[in-house]
Amino acid sequence: MPDKMDWLKDEMSGVSKLTQFSTVMKFLKGKVSGPSDVVKCAMCPNMCRHACPISIVDGKETTSPAGKSRVGMMLENEVLRFNEENVFPLQMCLSCGCCENWCPFDFSVSDILRPQREESIKQGVDFKQFDEMFKALEMHGSVHGKVGKEKNYPEEGEVLYLRGCEFRENDQRVIDKTMQLFEKLDESAFVLPGEECCGIPAYNAGNTALFEELAKKMAKKINMSSAKKVVTSCPSCAYAYERLYPEFSQGLDVEVLHMVEYLEEKKRLLNLEKKGGSVTFHEPCKLVNGLGKKKSMRDVLENSGLSLKIPRRSGEKTFCCGYGGTTVSRLNEELSSSINEERLKELKGLSKNIVTACPSCKEAFQDNHGDVKVYDIAELFNRLL
Ligand code: SF4
Ligand code: SF4
Repeated sequence: MPDKMDWLKDEMSGVSKLTQFSTVMKFLKGKVSGPSDVVKCAMCPNMCRHACPISIVDGKETTSPAGKSRVGMMLENEVLRFNEENVFPLQMCLSCGCCENWCPFDFSVSDILRPQREESIKQGVDFKQFDEMFKALEMHGSVHGKVGKEKNYPEEGEVLYLRGCEFRENDQRVIDKTMQLFEKLDESAFVLPGEECCGIPAYNAGNTALFEELAKKMAKKINMSSAKKVVTSCPSCAYAYERLYPEFSQGLDVEVLHMVEYLEEKKRLLNLEKKGGSVTFHEPCKLVNGLGKKKSMRDVLENSGLSLKIPRRSGEKTFCCGYGGTTVSRLNEELSSSINEERLKELKGLSKNIVTACPSCKEAFQDNHGDVKVYDIAELFNRLL
C-alpha cells in the first residue's frame, strides 16, 4: 500500500535541491500557519478520501472528508443556516480517524467538525433519533434505555471491569466469559454497581453538556470504588476515560486499559500452543486510530495458537465496521450496514471465524451475517485457555 507522504516525495522527485527545499518549506509553513483547520480541510483536494469508509461506500461529494468540511465552513461563515438538512452531512462521520492516517496536516475530520456539531445542538437542530438517545442517557444512563436484568458479579476487588452499554444490553454472555477469563488470570475483578454510559455517544453527536454531566458522574463513581485499575471491552469507552475525562471531568485516579492493552500486559500467560483452526481479525478504528494501538491486537493474537489470517486493511490501514461514532447508524442505518458489508466481504474471504475487540463491531458483524462466528477477544482467549 502507498504511504501518507508519497505525494510529497513525488513532488520532489526530479527537481533541483533548491526546489525541493522550497517545496518542503511551503508545506511546513502551510501546516503551522494560515487559515483555520476547517478552512484548510475544505480547500484540500480530498487527499484522504480513498481511506474514508463513508466516502468509499456513500460516494457523495458532501459526505466526503473535505466535502463535510466545506459544509462546516459555510455553516461557520453563516453562508448556510443550521438546520437538519445542512447539518446532516456533518453527522455522516464514523469518528474512525481513518482520514488522519493520510492527512498531511494530521487532521481528523471528526475533530475538526466538532464545534459545528456542538453549535447545531445549541441552536436546537433536532434529529429525533438523537433525542431518543439523549433521553435514554439522561434517564437511564445507558444509550439503549433501561438496562434489563443482569447477573450478579463481585462488587469489590482490584480490577474494575467496565462492561459498557452494548454488552450489558445485547450480549451479557460476553460479560460472563470475560469475568471467567479474569478468574483464569488470577485477577480479582469486579463490576461497578450502578455503572452508566461513559457518555461518548453524546459527545460524538455534539451534545457536550450531556457528555460532561455523564463524565462527572462516572468519574466520581469509579474514583470512589476499590479499583486499582480499570479494564473495558469498548475502545470508545477507553478513549473517553483516558483522553476526554481529564478535560471534561475530575478525571480518573486509576489507570485505564482497553482489553487488548490488558491482554498485551498478560501476554506471557497467553502464549498458547499451536493448534488447528484459523481466525481473522478486525481491529476497531478507535483502538488503532483513537488509542494509537496500531499493532497490539495482532501481537496478542499471534499468541493464540491459531492460524492468523491478516486482512489487507489492518493496522493503521484498518477499516470501520460501519457502526462507529453513533451518528451514522442512527441517522442512516442503510449506509452503516453497507459499510459493514464492505468490511465483512474482506474478512469472510479469509476465515469464517472473526475476532474483534469492540462490542459495537461484534454486534454489527454477527447481526448482519449468520454465516460467520464472531468473537470478542476476551471471549476467544477464555475459550482457548
Ligand atoms: S482530513 Fe486532511 S487529507 Fe482529508 S480532506 Fe481534510 S485536509 Fe485533506
Ligand atoms: S473520521 Fe472516518 S468517517 Fe469521518 S471523515 Fe474521517 S475517515 Fe471519514
